[in-house]
Amino acid sequence: MKPVDVEKLIRPHLVNIKTYDPVDPPELLAQRAGIPEDRVIKLNGNENPYGCSPRVAEALARVPAHIYPDPLQRRIRRALSSYTGMDPDCIIAGAGSDELIDLLFRLFISPGDEILDCDPTFGMYGFCARVAGGKITLVPRDELFDVDVDAIQQAITPRTKVIFISSPNNPTGNLATEAQVRALLDTGLVVVVDEAYYEFCNQTAAGLVPEHENLVVLRTMSKWAGLAGLRIGYGIMCPRLVKHIIDIKSPYNVSVAAEAALVASVEDAPALMENVRKIVAERERLFSLLKAIPGVTPWPSSGNFILCQFAPGRAREVFEGLARRGIFVRNFGSERLRDCFRVAIGTPEQTDAFVAALKETV
Ligand SMILES: *Cc1c(COP(=O)(O)O)cnc(C)c1O
Repeated sequence: MKPVDVEKLIRPHLVNIKTYDPVDPPELLAQRAGIPEDRVIKLNGNENPYGCSPRVAEALARVPAHIYPDPLQRRIRRALSSYTGMDPDCIIAGAGSDELIDLLFRLFISPGDEILDCDPTFGMYGFCARVAGGKITLVPRDELFDVDVDAIQQAITPRTKVIFISSPNNPTGNLATEAQVRALLDTGLVVVVDEAYYEFCNQTAAGLVPEHENLVVLRTMSKWAGLAGLRIGYGIMCPRLVKHIIDIKSPYNVSVAAEAALVASVEDAPALMENVRKIVAERERLFSLLKAIPGVTPWPSSGNFILCQFAPGRAREVFEGLARRGIFVRNFGSERLRDCFRVAIGTPEQTDAFVAALKETV
């Protein structure tokens, strides 16, 4: 038998695909810094420093792990209906909102179709486009990182299908206004408003869903409810779109553990929102501290993170200085964010350690 080169059988556009740049787990970060894992200050994933609700552990202990989850997610959609005020028919959950982004590509994007990506923004839209064989048109945000509606309108071609807006935008922190979202909806294309940080700003486009079949609002339990490790997010959209997502998703996409954790979190939402309030207060405190450090420019943020900009060519060294001290933030490969990194909002103690280390390295 001739030896087989299995790569020759892989779809050509996937063989050398540019991958998503994920964050490493704490034990690896600890190893890299040469410190014990419990001393790692992990501010690179926008995770919740207060963890999840204590009720989640109790709920997980009772999960029937040997039974498949409900493919129609009835409990999840009922719980999210009471949390969001939207009809359960307008809600669908995924294994993280990341899975829903991927499902939207499966639903709308044929090879060669185009998406509009408001650069700089969350890397998953471009990544899923590459996997789907779609074409990514980067529409630069303006000089304040705000969405540029005119530029978006001008970038539309007959093959454009979907416009992605992260609001608040990861990693810059900007909100899109309702007027901007309405203007984009008027293009008739699918408009995805990714509200992963909704709870940290309380501004939403969900109210527009009943009048706009082309609007998809994405949310997640990862950030406000501290469930990043369990992978559960959801979308709010018209019932027809929900039905089509259900038709193509894998039937058991959300695990029974994630379901139980979501229901417990929604029941404990008042306590979780107390943590959100602490994080928002800490965001404002960190912003003031950063503004007082020469050589650092913090960008105003409506999320649970702040984009920090440094003098040209300095960000890399500061990033590495922090990492040597066991403090991990998120940097980016793109030209526009070369002098920046993103820091997640942690506990007050983590803020103080971050600021002290920053003063030593900047
Ligand atoms: C964190 C994040 C997500 C991913 O959420 P998961 O539910 O954990 O997949 C989606 N969109 C943006 C903009 C994010 O920052």
